[in-house]
Amino acid sequence: MKKEILKCPKCDNYTLKNQCPKCDTKTLSPKPMKYSPEDKYGKWRRTYKKNVIRN
Ligand SMILES: [Zn+2]
Repeated sequence: MKKEILKCPKCDNYTLKNQCPKCDTKTLSPKPMKYSPEDKYGKWRRTYKKNVIRN
């Protein structure tokens, strides 16, 4: 399992928990979630397509 660092939007505290231990605010991922997963899927899709065409 991948541990992702999360950030409290209220007090800017970084934690691995879903809730800030300081103020109990729900933490959020500090990076925009779009970029890397989409890139990964793009690569995977391209590879998948290539394999399908070959076979
Ligand atoms: Zn907090």
